[in-house]
Amino acid sequence: MSDCLFCKIIGGEIPSTKVYEDELVYAFRDIAPMAPTHILVVPKTHIQDVNGITAENSAVVAHIFEVIPKLAAQEGLTGGYRVVSNCGADAGQTVPHLHFHILGGKQLCLEMA
Ligand code: AMP
Ligand code: ZN
Repeated sequence: MSDCLFCKIIGGEIPSTKVYEDELVYAFRDIAPMAPTHILVVPKTHIQDVNGITAENSAVVAHIFEVIPKLAAQEGLTGGYRVVSNCGADAGQTVPHLHFHILGGKQLCLEMA
């Protein structure tokens, strides 16, 4: 998608602090971190949000969840971490390209809503 912020980041049109990349996924540091470690993991293919996951494209989501523990280990998140994906306006999704936040490095607040 040509006007998508994260597609532009994946394509290198907009700079980012990359922490990991392979043929399917791209991971980079959140520009406004909410924890000492705050990484975004995104599929390279444009999927709008969790509602856009289908039988045809879900392999990339499984792959993302294989990558996430490796990134957490790389970041030294031995005490645990949180994985979040906001879907739609009520969840506060601001970038309509599926992404998973990895948050850690401190005791995270337990409030979910
Ligand atoms: P969400 O609110 O769940 O859609 O998450 C979008 C995230 O993208 C927010 O945490 C933003 O801080 C982050 N973000 C927005 N623009 C950039 C950027 N250029 N580089 C890195 N992270 C960004
Ligand atoms: Zn996109």
